[in-house]
Amino acid sequence: MSSIQQNIEQVIKQIHTAEVKCGRQQISVQLLAVSKTKPIEAIEQAIEAGQKAFGENYVQEGVEKVAYFKEHHAEQNLEWHFIGPLQSNKTRQVAESFDWVHSVDRAKIAQRLNDQRPGSLEPLKVLIQVNTSGEESKSGTNEEEVFALAELISSLPNLTLKGLMSIPANVSDYQSQLAAFNQLAELKNKLESRYNGLDTLSMGMSGDLEAAVEAGSTMVRIGTAIFGARDYSNKK
Ligand SMILES: *Cc1c(COP(=O)(O)O)cnc(C)c1O
Repeated sequence: MSSIQQNIEQVIKQIHTAEVKCGRQQISVQLLAVSKTKPIEAIEQAIEAGQKAFGENYVQEGVEKVAYFKEHHAEQNLEWHFIGPLQSNKTRQVAESFDWVHSVDRAKIAQRLNDQRPGSLEPLKVLIQVNTSGEESKSGTNEEEVFALAELISSLPNLTLKGLMSIPANVSDYQSQLAAFNQLAELKNKLESRYNGLDTLSMGMSGDLEAAVEAGSTMVRIGTAIFGARDYSNKK
């Protein structure tokens, strides 16, 4: 068994342990394998371990990988999630290739994704990225704007509003991690009574997945713990 396959088993165990520890039902948290910067072969090994959902951050790289797997592994029915920052001049490629977008943080992006989503595809599933830590430099909408953006997205026929996503400040102590994730969970609770099918909380990465699970995450986005450290030397 390759190390990537072992890592996936390990991460799934870690998720299950966290679920049990806080009294959640096992397999209520989905694993999204974040394959940004990693080669096709690494993704193929993850597929062999049964992994179906993959997250990508860079438009060009992501679109190429989606096209490769549609051509060579169509039978796998993989699910592709765009999780990186999205500029408006790149929305068309994302709307044409991906199944999910986690990083919708303003009206213009939502509108363009809707207008550019091909009618032959299912509506694009979207999450609103929220900046819970309030840091100026981080992307994500603030909590006040979430409600207006949710209203807009739910009115757009080619988008389906699935929930919220956040990338909290990188802190190592458990209680701070939990506090940031609880904030997002509360916001989701306020929204889910208004919108049918809004059931997704995308939160938790390699370093903070336990706290995310305790706070109610339904999808953890794991890169390093599966694929190892990333090499950014050929990125911008
Ligand atoms: C890179 C990335 C991840 C994965 O982070 P790891 O710490 O490697 O698990 C998750 N979410 C987003 C938005 C990312 O950009």
